[in-house]
Formats: sequence, C-alpha cells, structure tokens
Amino acid sequence: MFVDSHCHLSFPELHDRIDTIRADMAAARVERALCICTTIEEFPRVHALATAHDEFWCTVGVHPDNEGVLEPGLEDLLERAALPRVVAIGETGLDYYRLNGRSIEQMAWQRERFRVHIRAARATGLPLVVHTRSAGADTLALLREEGGGEVRGVFHCFTETMAVARAALELGFHISFSGILTFRNAQELRDVALEVPLERCLIETDSPYLAPMPYRGKTNSPAYVPHVAAKLAEIKGLPLEAVAEATRQNFERLFDIPALEKDLEKT
Ligand SMILES: [Zn+2]
Ligand SMILES: [Zn+2]
Repeated sequence: MFVDSHCHLSFPELHDRIDTIRADMAAARVERALCICTTIEEFPRVHALATAHDEFWCTVGVHPDNEGVLEPGLEDLLERAALPRVVAIGETGLDYYRLNGRSIEQMAWQRERFRVHIRAARATGLPLVVHTRSAGADTLALLREEGGGEVRGVFHCFTETMAVARAALELGFHISFSGILTFRNAQELRDVALEVPLERCLIETDSPYLAPMPYRGKTNSPAYVPHVAAKLAEIKGLPLEAVAEATRQNFERLFDIPALEKDLEKT
C-alpha cells in the first residue's frame, strides 16, 4: 500500500473527476493522500475533500508563488488549522526561481509570509510542508530563526543539493521525493535520495504536475505514486514493499494520522 504525501486534488483538472481519481488510486493500492492548500480562497475546497473522503487529509497555507491572493495572518492559519482533518501548515516556503525581474531583496514579502506560517506551525505543533526552490539557504535560516528548534515537517518535491538535504535532516525535517526522481536528467537528485535515510523519506506526486516516467508530460495523479516508490526502491536497492511500507509509516508518524491497520479494523 502506498501514500501520496503531497497532491493538489482541489485543482480543476483533478477535482472535476475526483471519483475517477479515487478509483484509480484504489486500483493502484494508493490508500491515502494529503491534499495541499495553496491559497486561503482554495481552503474550503481542499478541506471538503478531506472531510468527505476517508483516504484524504489536508493542510492550510499559502504557496510562496501565489500573488494577488489573500495574505494570511497568524489567526487565519490557526483558525483553519484547528478544524478536523487538517494535519499540517503549508505549503509554504520560498521560491527564488521565478523572480520575474525582481531582486531577492525585493522578495521580502515572501519571507514575511513564510515567517507567519512557521509561527503557525510552532503555535499548533503541526508539521510544516515546505516548498523551497533556489532558496535553500534563506529557507533554512528562517526555519532556524522562527522555528526555535521546535518546528518539524517536510521539504516537499525536493530538488536542492545534498548540503540543503543534510541541513534539513539536521533540523529534524523529512525529505519528500516526487516523480522528478524518475527523470533521466535527475542523477544529482538520485544521489541525494541514496543518502537520505529511509526513515526520513516521503514520496509524493505533486499532482497534477510532474508526472513520473512513463507518464511524463501528462496530467499527474496520486495513482502514479507507486512509480516514485519503485524508483526510490531501485536507488536504495530495496524491495518495493519495504519502501512503500516505510514511507507510509513515516507519513502516519509525521502527520499524526492513525496507522492504516487501525483504520481498517474500524470498518
Ligand atoms: Zn511546492
Ligand atoms: Zn505542491
């Protein structure tokens, strides 16, 4: 059984056919998925998925790339984080990849937004889902500054260097690998995956984006997460089932979700 630790099922290309997605997940033995929030406006839809379906949980947060959207204050996050089935703060973080002609200094608004999310994680004790792209040093610095060693979480869709991975692990964070792991030009990332201890690894699709091989370029879905697991197993020289099981347990532990066995016993 597999879990997808990061997907965007509230996006129209997936939301409009959620029943098909759920059937595809069941057929692929993908038992659970975390629905990630990227704006406050989107939250009701993300949360509705998590309350309507047993296999989904959700987060609350505003993605660093989103501009012209509601800017969340601490209270906005805390209020929503207290609702049932909300298990993390994010996705949040820093993205200096698309500066659109601005300097890093001019991205102060993004750093401020990230700080608010870290404070929310600290206040609630919930894990933080961190998006970081071309901004590893600042991401780590802000986590240290605002987190006070108390905030845990995951660096999702990891594409940074081994040095950033090591620092994230040192801070107590998990590292989540996406379909990028299967891309031909991603050897550096595969080297990182080899080094990250299995007990700190998560797997995700980040769907609808980043479909793994052999679906690269198509609309991604949580049903494809076994391809990420298979690649991680190949890299680590482990059986697929071992990686599936470990990443599921890591997911349950990090997001404080009841173990799947217990959930099944109930029914
Ligand atoms: Zn992201
Ligand atoms: Zn995402």
